[in-house]
Amino acid sequence: MKTRILAIHAHPDDVEILAGGTMALLAAAGHSITIVSMTPGDCGSAELSGDEIAAIRRMEAGSAAARIGAEYRCAEFRDLTIFNDDPSRRRVVEILRRTKPNLVLTSSPIDYMCDHEATSSLVRDACFAAPARNYTTRDVQAAAPLPAIPHLYFMDPVGGVDREGRPVPSDFYVDVESVFAKKTEMLSRHTSQREWLKKQHGIDDYLATMERWTRDIGERAGLKMAEGFRRYKGHPYPQSALLEELLGNHVAVTARGA
Ligand SMILES: [Zn+2]
Repeated sequence: MKTRILAIHAHPDDVEILAGGTMALLAAAGHSITIVSMTPGDCGSAELSGDEIAAIRRMEAGSAAARIGAEYRCAEFRDLTIFNDDPSRRRVVEILRRTKPNLVLTSSPIDYMCDHEATSSLVRDACFAAPARNYTTRDVQAAAPLPAIPHLYFMDPVGGVDREGRPVPSDFYVDVESVFAKKTEMLSRHTSQREWLKKQHGIDDYLATMERWTRDIGERAGLKMAEGFRRYKGHPYPQSALLEELLGNHVAVTARGA
């Protein structure tokens, strides 16, 4: 059966870096995927205005998603201004109601920067609110409430570590070696970021950094390349292992269990 999957993270390129391989595997298995960035990455340039870089990054993110036949949308928040407040939650609920996901993947509750952490709590709470009929989004053409809370999973934090540099354990790991070329192809569509970092760091390390992180996570699972995930355990979110089942033998379960 085809599952509707929503991968929603803070900035254009976060989903590609942290879950691009997993998205490629799910897309190849025929599932329908929407990738949403909360912002269009409007602070991701030292030369262009916010609007100019945002326009470029929306196109790049659309192009990256298209590599696996996924749809891309931007929630049109702005960099460093994502907060878990009333209007923001209603906006995220409207996105959930329009995309009707069975399965949602979002950022880690603990991560290196504020937008990532705010996105995590916003999406978590929006999943809870999306089926509530009396929770209106004030949208002119508001979509219908979801029939139920979707399955919710957290991606790893960037680099797989918390703010103290300690490893954040995943519930399970997805072996992405077979789709690593596709993951790289997706991330390489974010040309503006690669160029920006090249200028900032003096070396072309955008793709290399992603590869190092993917190898580091792989090492934890005894794999060459991996991406890690945790299922949100809060009551009353669904607790069946939907993502693990969809990925089948690409999943390596750790001692912590899934
Ligand atoms: Zn980010």
